Amino acid sequence: MQSRRNEEPEISTSEPALRIIMRRLREIMAEAGDGQSRLNKIVRHVAGVMVAEVCSIYLKRRDGSLELFATEGLNPDAVHTTRLKRGEGLVGRCAELGITINLPDAQKHPAFSYRPETGEEQYHSLLAVPILRSGQLLGVLVIQNHAFKEYSEDDVETLQATAMVVAEHLVSGAVANAEADAEISRSLAAVIKGEVLSEGIGLGRVVLHAPRIVVTKLTADDPASELKRLEAAIIELRSGLDEMLEQEQVANDGEHRDVLEAYRMFAHDRGWERRIREAVQSGLTADAAVERVQNSSRARMLRNADPYWQERQRDFDDLSDRMLRILAGHPSGVQPQLEMPADTILIARNMGPAELLDYDPAKLRGLVVEDGSAQSHVAVVAKALGIPAVGQAVGVVEHVSPGDNAIIDAETGEVYLRPLSDVMAAFSDKVRFRARRQKKYDALRDLPAVTKDGKRIELNINAGLLYDLAHLEESGADGVGLFRTELQFMVSHTLPRLERQAETYRQAIAAAAGKPVVFRALDIGGDKVLPYLRQVKEENPAIGWRAVRMSLDRKGLLRTQLRALFKATVGGELRLMVPMITTTREMVEVKHIVDAELGRARRKGMPCPERVRLGAMFEVPSLLFELDELFKIVDFVSIGTNDLMQFLFAADRTNAMVGSRYDVLSRAPLRALKQILAAGIRHNVPITVCGEMAGRPIDAMALVALGFRSVSMAPAAVGPVKAMLLSLDISDAARELERLIDRGEKDIRHSLVRFAEKAGVDH
Ligand code: PEP
Ligand code: MG
Repeated sequence: MQSRRNEEPEISTSEPALRIIMRRLREIMAEAGDGQSRLNKIVRHVAGVMVAEVCSIYLKRRDGSLELFATEGLNPDAVHTTRLKRGEGLVGRCAELGITINLPDAQKHPAFSYRPETGEEQYHSLLAVPILRSGQLLGVLVIQNHAFKEYSEDDVETLQATAMVVAEHLVSGAVANAEADAEISRSLAAVIKGEVLSEGIGLGRVVLHAPRIVVTKLTADDPASELKRLEAAIIELRSGLDEMLEQEQVANDGEHRDVLEAYRMFAHDRGWERRIREAVQSGLTADAAVERVQNSSRARMLRNADPYWQERQRDFDDLSDRMLRILAGHPSGVQPQLEMPADTILIARNMGPAELLDYDPAKLRGLVVEDGSAQSHVAVVAKALGIPAVGQAVGVVEHVSPGDNAIIDAETGEVYLRPLSDVMAAFSDKVRFRARRQKKYDALRDLPAVTKDGKRIELNINAGLLYDLAHLEESGADGVGLFRTELQFMVSHTLPRLERQAETYRQAIAAAAGKPVVFRALDIGGDKVLPYLRQVKEENPAIGWRAVRMSLDRKGLLRTQLRALFKATVGGELRLMVPMITTTREMVEVKHIVDAELGRARRKGMPCPERVRLGAMFEVPSLLFELDELFKIVDFVSIGTNDLMQFLFAADRTNAMVGSRYDVLSRAPLRALKQILAAGIRHNVPITVCGEMAGRPIDAMALVALGFRSVSMAPAAVGPVKAMLLSLDISDAARELERLIDRGEKDIRHSLVRFAEKAGVDH
């Protein structure tokens, strides 16, 4: 082989072509110039070394087509003009099947597709190899010659190896332009980390939620007929929402219902309607008017960094988008030409709660949104429908194409785009495994949680919204050990009034069907901001003005909640616990308020429970030093290990950088837990543990080994923890734990896992 062109460096005939190409590619990468000029140099050089009249690079576009990005030998005008549809021609076939094509007379092949603009009719032989990176196709590298020749094995190997190097450079962003880089990043496997909105795992194919309608016609020729269009659209909007709310899956009670009702209220908002109407009267088209009003309301709301107002803005955006689509003649965000696959992973920049309902939930395997927090309305609806969802998946829309494979792991918050086959297989296994495991846990549902040595352990669930209550029956738990009442406040648009609160508590009690429910007084403040309550910005919200500190300063809030709880538990027993108690004194104050309210209700003949059992949440380490004083005045104690550990270790529970630094299964916290338990036994006060640790089998094993007999956890943890308990002999575990603590074992967790393995404890 020899160099064909003067500008190419001298090539020694004894040096293998591949080595020459590699060396020159390295040089090209080191030279100045933009991506396009590098691609041009690459094709020129490869053609030279391989003595080919033509060398071209085609890159894959978002829609699966292949675009000619650089060529030596074909007509330069064809660059960025010639595009082959997915699978079209020999190049398309090479890409589609991921195979090398080596033909002495390409034009005779039935798949040959002639593109006059390229001027390729004069070339007969063709060698095309896919440009692949980690199994993902980025493009095709082609050489062609006039002569009818079959390329040698050496040629094939050289071109394939060249394609591999080109792929590396393409991925590094060194050889293409920004547009091509974006295309390339869309063809590679990628993982995007977000935040879990609704738990579960889903595998499927990507459907992109319809992007916003772009309004192009701004002014109306005939405002009167434009007003009529507007009226018709408003009617359609409202009746569409009515219909949606009648759907079976959404018609039931629950917070998602509140969210959707509020959304419907917005659609009837007179101010909104009037502003749009005025904009039409001023000469805009109905579409432009909707957009104008949306923009100005967004400008106003964006000035407000508050999550509440941002959520309102999302509702209004959703509503306006829906209006624009109605005006454009295709009312739902589901793309009209799109057949929704039976395994749809829906991906959207943002999505309102009603938009999600445009899609058939039976076909939805997952939802990924670029914004959206766990309290966002779309998250509430996704949870209610049982659809795994991940939010805060920054940049996901830019990284996918419709039809891509995707996996949503809404246990870890990861979204896998175009996963390689082994990742797909691993997740399919995981889904099957989950289903099998679930079956096993379902089978334990009706068994009491009794250990091998005959100790009965009380297993409760943590809940916060009404639909969580369904898990009580499903999991076979003994009751609700922690009902986080603040969640109703967080998904609500306005401060829930007494009657609305009472209704929620009533429904929670009814859903528990006779099993006990422990309500927790509001744990708001800090980072759980309620926009309708004025709040000062704090440097350290977790240790700031939150929970009982706020309730004692704003007693009206606590009193209203107490009255609502009294109403809901009329004639029965109210179990109420107070979060973030830091001193016994605070508990005394709360007790006074509760007693005063109860006395008042009784005196006035107002609805109230027969009995109130008042407990403290043990979340602040200061209480360790007034255990006896505290236990003398409470009816029960619930240990919130999430907060207790963050304060004990001075390690922010939301900060991943310190999250794994300290272990609850280590000497200090285990000793603290033991002391609290001992105080409970001394004072005959029941104690339970309701932090996350109670839901992890090994941690729960340590808790029962310490002596705890009641725990409360996320519903999904009940099965695994029960399986652990059924296979456990507590006295063995207690001895082992004691020994580990006393001898100063560095890694208690690891030793407990080894113990569980040896003792056959299911963990
Ligand atoms: C805890 O702190 O352990 C707890 C259960 O409360 P939350 O997680 O709601 O703060
Ligand atoms: Mg807490």
